[in-house]
Amino acid sequence: MISINLFNPVNTGVLKTNYSEFKSFVENKQVRKIEVINKKEARVYISPDQLDQPPHKDKNIPKKSVFGGPNNGPHYVFNIPNNESFSSYLEEAQKEYSRKNQTLMYDYVEEDNFGKDILGWIIFFGIMIAVWSFIMRRVSGGGGGAGGQIFNIGKSKAQMFGQGKSTNVTFDNVAGLEEAKEEVKEIVDFLKTPKKYTALGAKIPKGALLVGPPGTGKTLIAKAVAGEAKVPFFSLSGSDFVEMFVGVGASRVRDLFKQAKEKAPCIIFIDEIDAIGRARGKNPNMGSNDERENTLNQLLTEMDGFGTNSGVIILAATNRADVLDRALMRAGRFDRQIYVDMPDLNERKEIFEVHLKPLKLEKKLDKDFLARQTPGFSGADIANICNEAALIAARKKKTSVQKQDFLDAVDRIIGGLEKKNKIITKQEKKTIAYHESGHATVSWMLEHANPLVKVTIVPRGQS
Ligand code: ADP
Repeated sequence: MISINLFNPVNTGVLKTNYSEFKSFVENKQVRKIEVINKKEARVYISPDQLDQPPHKDKNIPKKSVFGGPNNGPHYVFNIPNNESFSSYLEEAQKEYSRKNQTLMYDYVEEDNFGKDILGWIIFFGIMIAVWSFIMRRVSGGGGGAGGQIFNIGKSKAQMFGQGKSTNVTFDNVAGLEEAKEEVKEIVDFLKTPKKYTALGAKIPKGALLVGPPGTGKTLIAKAVAGEAKVPFFSLSGSDFVEMFVGVGASRVRDLFKQAKEKAPCIIFIDEIDAIGRARGKNPNMGSNDERENTLNQLLTEMDGFGTNSGVIILAATNRADVLDRALMRAGRFDRQIYVDMPDLNERKEIFEVHLKPLKLEKKLDKDFLARQTPGFSGADIANICNEAALIAARKKKTSVQKQDFLDAVDRIIGGLEKKNKIITKQEKKTIAYHESGHATVSWMLEHANPLVKVTIVPRGQS
């Protein structure tokens, strides 16, 4: 700004005037000198003896210059209307002055306005920086989470539990699955008291793979481990490694293990590991996903490379163990496979007990009956039934959830919504009933068929 003040006289107490007023100054012989700047602007120097004459007297022109000496001008500045006529006007005026034995000087000056140029550049760069930082903030997803910044794109997106942050799930929330619980509890024990095992020369396993159909509680077990392990627990999903940029996955794996090693002993949990652990293609050029393979390779080396990662145990869950890469499954990486199966009758009862706890139930609800009514249901299905039953009871404005609500919920989940407007004649109904009871009888009589739970001819959903 200083440069602007120095170069631009307008800011140093020079008054703005116009062409016609300037002419009157000239006619009154008050002007000493004129400087024409860049053929656009004229700076007017008033004779010192005229400064305390009207009209200048009343215009509070500063008496002193910015540097302290007397104000020698310029005193006025104005925009030149038309170059041609202005220069001839000056010539005329000079002649007129000399006739009166006075001098009028004029000069044409070419001036670069550094101040304006520099200011222009400063503004330009300012805008560029503002735009750039705006874009950066946008790309980084709202400027919030540490994982989202563009510079952090190679950082792992794992959530960390333990050390203050907990999942609120304990092993009590996991019903049944005794063997699986036993196994994961042992893994936690490895981390807490490794001496017990290494004293006998045993090596601590590197990882365990939870395998089983969807909804059987694999994620739930992992959450329970996180809740109870009392060691840092990194949780992320296989798809968290995948990004549209090449090389990000591998870099995230590296970062994940780097963080984990700093926090060791700790557990890393990768849900849906099939997203990256799928068997690598045989033909690298034919449509196989290079990026995913790089990520997997990095995971393999991190798990069993030269680098030591003692004190880091990896839990992973998948319901597609068949598609996983063989290298991932070999001993030394996921040494243990924990099979999480569909719950049997007793386990279903236990799962019901877990999920019925928060519900308001009728007094004598038979949980065995519910377990018997739900063969082939996973833990997630049972959780769903309990919720659905409560919703149905609420819809019927009941004060507690009753057995019938559970049966309706089961029917609804197996068969879909009841079709109330599908009109069938009485005769048709009778025929269908005979037909279906035939199926039911055969099913009832056969020894190795699935047990018969319910027979209905109410049309539902697609069936
Ligand atoms: P997945 O095996 O597909 O990871 P989840 O662990 O996500 O399945 O289970 C989904 C839901 O099912 C859980 O949040 C829980 O409510 C219920 N669930 C499944 N298995 C059990 C179980 N053994 N005990 C209690 N709840 C269960």
